[in-house]
Amino acid sequence: MKSAIYPGTFDPMTYGHLDIIKRAANIFDEVIVSVLDNKEKTPLFSVDERVKILRDVTADIPNVKIESFGGLLSDYCSEKNIFVVVRGLRAVTDFEYELQMSQMNRKLSNNKLDTVYLNTSLKYSYLSSSSVKQIAQFNGDLSDFVPDFVAEMLIERLGKKNQ
Ligand code: ADP
Repeated sequence: MKSAIYPGTFDPMTYGHLDIIKRAANIFDEVIVSVLDNKEKTPLFSVDERVKILRDVTADIPNVKIESFGGLLSDYCSEKNIFVVVRGLRAVTDFEYELQMSQMNRKLSNNKLDTVYLNTSLKYSYLSSSSVKQIAQFNGDLSDFVPDFVAEMLIERLGKKNQ
C-alpha cells in the first residue's frame, strides 16, 4: 500500500488545500493529512478545530485520514513508516521555501523522505489561509474559498461586529 503525508498549518483549510487532498487521494492508496501543532505560530484555530474542519470536509473520501503532529516532520514520518510527503505549489514564490524544506527533511531522514509537489489548480493559485483571514476581517464574501461553515467560523471570530 502506498501512503503519503500531507502536512500543513491549515489555519483554516481552504478549497486550495482540499483540491490537493483530493488529487493526492487519487494518486496514493492512503493520504494522511496532518495538522502541524507549531508552537511558534499563533494560529486562529486550535489544532482540534483545524482537525475537525478537515475531518468534516473529507468525510466522503475513504482513503483520507486526518491527524495532527508536533516536532519534526521527518520524525513523524519515520514513526508512521511513511516516506512520501505531499505539498502544494501555488507559484514560484512557494518554490524556494518548499525546496529548502524538502532537502532538509531528506537530510534529516537519512535520504528516505521524498516530497511530491502537486501544482495548484489555476483557480486556486492566489488562495491562501492568510488572505481568507484578511477578507473575513471585513466580512467579505468567502464562498469561493472555504466551505460555508468555515466562513461562518471565520466571520464569527474575525468579522467586523466582533472587533
Ligand atoms: P504551511 O504553514 O505548512 O505552509 P499551509 O496550510 O499554508 O501550511 O499550506 C500547506 C500546504 O498547502 C503547502 O504545501 C502550501 O503550499 C499548500 N497550499 C496552500 N494553499 C494552496 C492552494 N491555494 N493551492 C495549492 N496548494 C496550496
